[in-house]
Amino acid sequence: GVAAAAAGARGDGGARYKDPTQPLSTRIDDLLGRMTLAEKIGQMSQIEREKATPDVISKYFIGSVLSAGGSVPAANAPPEAWVEMVNGMQGGAMSTRLGIPMLYGVDAVHGHGNAYKATIFPHNIGLGCTRDPELVKKIGAAVALEVRATGIPYIFAPCVAVCRDPRWGRCYESFSEHPELVKNMTSIISGFQGEIPAGGQKGTPFVAGRRNVAACAKHYVGDGGTTGGINANDTVATFHELLSIHMPPYYDAVIRGVSTVMVSYSSWNGVKMHANRFLVTDVLKNRLRFRGFVISDYQGLDFITTLQHADYLLSIKLGILAGIDMVMIPLNYTEFIDGLTLLVNNGTIPMSRIDDAVRRILRVKFTMGLFEHPYAADDLTTELGKQEHRDLAREAVRKSLVLLKNGDDKPFLPLTKKATTGSILVAGDHADDLGAQCGGWTINWQGFTGNNGLTVGTTILDAIKNAVEPAGTGVVYIENPDAAFVENNKAGFDYAVVVVGEPPYAETAGDNMNLTIPAPGLDVVRKVCGGIKCVVVLISGRPLVVEPDLLESIDALVAAWLPGTEGEGVADVLFGEYGFTGKLSRTWFRSVEQLPMNVGDEHYDPLFPFGFGLETQPSEY
Ligand code: BGC
Repeated sequence: GVAAAAAGARGDGGARYKDPTQPLSTRIDDLLGRMTLAEKIGQMSQIEREKATPDVISKYFIGSVLSAGGSVPAANAPPEAWVEMVNGMQGGAMSTRLGIPMLYGVDAVHGHGNAYKATIFPHNIGLGCTRDPELVKKIGAAVALEVRATGIPYIFAPCVAVCRDPRWGRCYESFSEHPELVKNMTSIISGFQGEIPAGGQKGTPFVAGRRNVAACAKHYVGDGGTTGGINANDTVATFHELLSIHMPPYYDAVIRGVSTVMVSYSSWNGVKMHANRFLVTDVLKNRLRFRGFVISDYQGLDFITTLQHADYLLSIKLGILAGIDMVMIPLNYTEFIDGLTLLVNNGTIPMSRIDDAVRRILRVKFTMGLFEHPYAADDLTTELGKQEHRDLAREAVRKSLVLLKNGDDKPFLPLTKKATTGSILVAGDHADDLGAQCGGWTINWQGFTGNNGLTVGTTILDAIKNAVEPAGTGVVYIENPDAAFVENNKAGFDYAVVVVGEPPYAETAGDNMNLTIPAPGLDVVRKVCGGIKCVVVLISGRPLVVEPDLLESIDALVAAWLPGTEGEGVADVLFGEYGFTGKLSRTWFRSVEQLPMNVGDEHYDPLFPFGFGLETQPSEY
């Protein structure tokens, strides 16, 4: 056939690995048998987009390339530019002796966050509140399409952390503090990769086709259990606790055929996960029978030894012997390649370990059809940010919102669409801020504030203006009204919608030991709600401290998490087009002194318990 002809043209006599009719194991064995050490180590190397010229890829036989957060071809690059970039790099890989396609990966943790005009979905904390695995699966399928629209076949998602302490800067990347809920939400993997067909082998890496992507369950394991909620810290736990709290999502991920697993920066009882052979090899690969590949975190090997990079050779040795198959080595790839070559040549790392790593990488590449279709087509470019996906995101926003308080004697929500006596005040620094609404991992790793034009969507303010009747009238927006203004004008407002919360952040930058509502938002709530009937919409990556007197002064309180680009989902429920249905995916604590505090704890005394959420019925218009 075509494959055989192409192979013949390169003079390698119709190699069996190129023949898609051969069994997978035959193809892997055949290809592995032809590979030199340099070619094998190249497969194990994942390098940064900026370094990945076609020449570098072909010279070092690079197996994978990544766009870490914010690493884009150009700020407003259309999907076609991405496709061209990825295909250009693939040209480098395909020009090598054996023509092994490289695998391009990107952080698409709540939609294709790096890409201009992508649909940005609620972060995982909000998806957990929907309690809707089917919806979450659909989101996975939509994200896969948007990522493929840019020619990319691999994503570093989902994060299946079971976050036990909201002080952690990655709390919002976690579906829940409850292992069972996170486990249920691994349905997103079947959305990303497609569902293993009936009769198919559960537990082997699976990607249905060119409308799906290879997924990555991360960060293995115990990332959400670190002491004090400090990012990449030590998780102190018995093996039983580790298995019952942090491991359950991985059981499901493996059964769903997740292609890859990323190792956590954190440690377990003092041993870095990147050096933990017991958990990576004995448990994940041997006991759970995970047959995809294990990838390190970004420069994760460097952090194995205490001083970053102090003894890189030792780090490589410990990491590869622990069972890491592909190494995310953003900058120092030649150092990694030289180091690993040395360690194999001097017998420190056996060839059998290298072969295991390469087999796993090739298995994923073969099963996802990369050898048959190494180049991205540009027929999916219209998938990026399309209306159907925005509608799905809007539905997810509606279902993710949790109503924490609704009036004292009678319900305050839903709001009336038509102001009866005066106008509607919208206040707060998060009301008209798409960046704040999206949070971290949007355009940039750390996110952005304001409306940058790169992320296209609807702010909550715009959504409110669209929802009121007549549309666009009677809404007054003052970001930070002063006390005198509120005092002098309070009779002129029917009610106020105050939208405040956290600024965007990611990872360590988001670790926060206070968890108070940041100023000036908190002051705006105090000023406005002291004088005008108000609903407060909190935009945050986790529960924040709500003091009793503050709660008292608020008429209705809504946790909106980090809803993403479709602010209209917030207006939909505020105005009663739909009812509130979301249920807390986490415990809402009273004070940080209580932390960590999780459902099932002996002294459980939350402000709002896990699973709490008031409901409203849609209004009849
Ligand atoms: C994060 C990962 C992410 C990687 C690549 C790391 O800092 O821990 O979650 O996939 O960067 O951007």
